[in-house]
Amino acid sequence: MSAQTVVARSRLDGRVLEEIPGHDAAAVADAVGRARAAQETWGAMDVRVRARRLRALGRVLGDRGEEIAGRVREETGKPRSEALAEVAVSADLVQHYARTAPRVLARRRVSRGWLLGKWAWVDREPWGVVGAITAWNYPFILAMDCVSAALFAGNAVVVKPSELTSWTALLLPELATDAGLPDDLVSVVVGGGETGTALVHAGVDRVVFTGSTATGRKVMAAAAEHLTPVTLELGGKDPAVVLADADLERAARGVTYGAFFNAGQTCISVERVLVARELHDDFVARVVALTGELRAGPEEDADLGPMITDAQLEVVERHVADAVERGATVRTGGERAPGHDATFLPTVLTGVAPEMDVWTRETFGPVLPVVPFDDEEEAVRLADAGEYGLFASVWTGDRDRGVRLGRRLRCGGFSVNDVLSHYAVPGLPVGGTGESGFGRRRGREALEEMSRTRSVLVDRSGLGRELWWFPYSAKARRLVRAVLAWRARRGVGGMWAGLRAWMRGVDA
Ligand code: NAD
Repeated sequence: MSAQTVVARSRLDGRVLEEIPGHDAAAVADAVGRARAAQETWGAMDVRVRARRLRALGRVLGDRGEEIAGRVREETGKPRSEALAEVAVSADLVQHYARTAPRVLARRRVSRGWLLGKWAWVDREPWGVVGAITAWNYPFILAMDCVSAALFAGNAVVVKPSELTSWTALLLPELATDAGLPDDLVSVVVGGGETGTALVHAGVDRVVFTGSTATGRKVMAAAAEHLTPVTLELGGKDPAVVLADADLERAARGVTYGAFFNAGQTCISVERVLVARELHDDFVARVVALTGELRAGPEEDADLGPMITDAQLEVVERHVADAVERGATVRTGGERAPGHDATFLPTVLTGVAPEMDVWTRETFGPVLPVVPFDDEEEAVRLADAGEYGLFASVWTGDRDRGVRLGRRLRCGGFSVNDVLSHYAVPGLPVGGTGESGFGRRRGREALEEMSRTRSVLVDRSGLGRELWWFPYSAKARRLVRAVLAWRARRGVGGMWAGLRAWMRGVDA
């Protein structure tokens, strides 16, 4: 494999930002080797010490926030406030883990059960080197989610960012150095899919993949060759369900925000909305009006920026054209922004049928298809159409009803009367089910996935032998019968049963 140079370009004006030498298989293996050496000392450290040292990483994100956001904005074209939000969310996660990781990863004593004279506990240990392959839509957050959880749990991490946003990712080792972390604990390998494949085959101990379902399948197949555990954070087609008792204004504003934030290139965005039939026309009118007010383009203070690639734009155009051809109506948008070809205008579609691509396939762009429903059963059926199961939102005046309905949907998380805010709560894990993958990032769940358990049992009886060791005897059988009688029941009843079985003392 030859290492191809990755040319980082501005999505705002197309100029070359940097030509970054790519990593071939040998260079990837070298990075993993150096990461492994760095991890030895890091992983052996007490988690409280690691947590204290990692607080500095949060502070560095605060100090260099504008610069990081500048790179994110340059490479993706997103508005500055959205780029800054990536840094804010990441800093918040680091400080959250600094507080919580020592508890989550602490030694856990467990009951010794019926084995008197023993100690038993569970330790959590790092995997070693984590390979993180990430997507372009949140170049900083997606990498930092993995980096943070991996480091707190005592791993080193090698990041393979999207070839579209490698320039942003190059900052990661610099930030780690600024925070005073050991060299090679965080490294970046650059290249396309072949570099990602090389990372999976380079002997990493765990793979965390964020990207499309199609690539996720390939990554899992490659990891299976080494029995390397994987986390897969894949695509989604997240529904919003607006019930008849919803606050129309909040629902319309929230759904518009959720659909068009980051130009719809968000895995937990609103990709489609189901609206109670009696509210449908008012809701559509409100959403169309709000959408019409959005400023789309490359400007720093625009509401939504360009799409990341022309290929992604073409997917959006294909889905809209297919829907229109099959009878849907474009209520607003439906084309590229005049004067800025890389931006697609925020688009609202009505008259959408569930068999259209725009209803079940991930569009990953600023398109909001609206479909009415008559009752909750129909809403659930329409929401669960397709194979994805990432996120959902329910909009209603009755929060309990919202929670009940959310629990019926196929998804890894949902909000009631809110959207996208999961990311502002670092304790909430994010991940999906079905074709949206498995495993979780963020929250204590990510720390748990970035570590493995080691169960420890220590004898403190000092006896020369145990009753049940070889050679087997009538006494051993008596003991096992007593244990069975005792442990099969709860509480005092169980103890009596065990005692009776022991006293009986003869083979059946
Ligand atoms: P992608 O699958 O094309 O690429 C993702 C990463 O995988 C990139 O770094 C790419 O270079 C690498 N890659 C490509 N082929 C590979 C291979 N054979 N082996 C190893 N690595 C390989 O996805 P994308 O277009 O960059 O990202 C968009 C997708 O990511 C969307 O489907 C979106 O929903 C999904 N996504 C999901 C989440 C989530 O949390 N579930 C978050 C962000 C993005």
